[in-house]
Amino acid sequence: MAGSLNIPLAVAQTFASAVAARAIGARYRGAYIHVPFCRHKCHYCDFYSFVDSENRTEAFVERLEAELSSALPFLNHQLETVFVGGGTPTMLGAPLLARMLASVRRILPIAEDAEWSVEANPETVDEATADALAQAGVRRVSVGAQSFTPRLLKALERDHDPLSVGRAVRLLRSAGVPEVNVDLIFGIPSSTLEDWQRDLAAALALAPDHISAYGLVYEPNTPLTVKLRQGAVTRLPEDDEAEQYEYVIAALAAAGYERYEISNWSLPGRACKHNILYWQNADWWAFGPSGAAHGAGIRWKNIPRLATWLEQGPSSPVVDVESLDLDGQAGESFMLGLRLMRGIPVERVEQLLASPARGSHRRRLIDGHIAGGLLEHADGHLRLTARGFMIADSVLSGLI
Ligand code: SF4
Repeated sequence: MAGSLNIPLAVAQTFASAVAARAIGARYRGAYIHVPFCRHKCHYCDFYSFVDSENRTEAFVERLEAELSSALPFLNHQLETVFVGGGTPTMLGAPLLARMLASVRRILPIAEDAEWSVEANPETVDEATADALAQAGVRRVSVGAQSFTPRLLKALERDHDPLSVGRAVRLLRSAGVPEVNVDLIFGIPSSTLEDWQRDLAAALALAPDHISAYGLVYEPNTPLTVKLRQGAVTRLPEDDEAEQYEYVIAALAAAGYERYEISNWSLPGRACKHNILYWQNADWWAFGPSGAAHGAGIRWKNIPRLATWLEQGPSSPVVDVESLDLDGQAGESFMLGLRLMRGIPVERVEQLLASPARGSHRRRLIDGHIAGGLLEHADGHLRLTARGFMIADSVLSGLI
């Protein structure tokens, strides 16, 4: 299955010794850039992000430029997507954000019609930032709203005024950013169905092109999970969370949004191409501290420590290198591809089932799930049924 190499931070390997030789044959279709700065650390968040008291944003952009150039020998094809996430990329402020996006465009081989996405915290979008994003050719800006209910934002330790979401969306639209996504979270402690209905209505009132709605996850070692362990917060009962999940599915369908992935909806033609690359188990390159990449069956992660990342270079030191054999890659492809509503093309399913190690086991599981009404064949694809989607985690975990 997988050969995994979890390298302690102190001995993170140079990119060349850990990955380079094996990653050269991949066809990288996307680029992910991780900007680790945030104005406040939300209590549920386990991304590598922090409040930078040392003002290292300019050093970050300079160092990133060197890392972009260092990847060029590996990027033999035009990139179809660029996704700048974090962290909060808009924390860089308009001038640095503009410089960073211009450097990405100048240095990397990017297709003319590539999709450019940037994540934003609503409080950090002002007129200058919105203009910088639009002028750089960013097509999608994803605004982290999570909730419009002050009590629930407080439960998550989100540090923004709900009104800032609408303000950010309006600024982005009037600057000329063509597509806006709003991120939401359901299943927040103490939330009721009525809270969730109001939150969704508030999001829909902004007419976003895309909505992501995730159930709250208690990631290990986050302050929220510590509070849960200590009894300072109470997890929402499963049935209540399921009720919120069922509501969002029905409400967004009624509002004309197409669900294209377990947690993602868009207006027709506005799905996020970059995230689809992840679910197709395609190859993408990652830049910046803690950026995670995938190429030719190898997953690796850049060192999640800004100070070390700034000191070393031009490519990033890497940690958590994981090399999957064909059977491991097939398992991942099932787990990711079946998250998409359209599923996996049947020809691809047959290729994935050719693995001698677990192919026949997976075929039996799939046949059983089809007989049980959890998977189905439709439009030349294998996909989860509506019932299968409700228990997707348990269906997919067997196929890994
Ligand atoms: S703004 Fe986003 S990345 Fe930053 S701490 Fe909050 S959830 Fe994490």
